[in-house]
Amino acid sequence: MIITLKNNFHNTEVRVNVPNDGELSIGQAKRVRKMLCGSDSCTCGVVRGPQDFPVDWVEINSCWEGSRRYDIFTVVFKED
Ligand SMILES: [Zn+2]
Repeated sequence: MIITLKNNFHNTEVRVNVPNDGELSIGQAKRVRKMLCGSDSCTCGVVRGPQDFPVDWVEINSCWEGSRRYDIFTVVFKED
């Protein structure tokens, strides 16, 4: 399903095709981070502020492979 994720701190948004289980691929997560924030040192949280239905919130887990970080983004959907 195609959803829009938003960041009301930078006033940015990005459309992404999220799989049914809500977990974005590493490539999608990279793109979302870059489009919504783009700054590694920023503490805005990447996905921030009110989101469009059916997105409730997005859980972001940062993982490290040596000194390289990658993110696991899991979109949590609202129950209607
Ligand atoms: Zn930011």
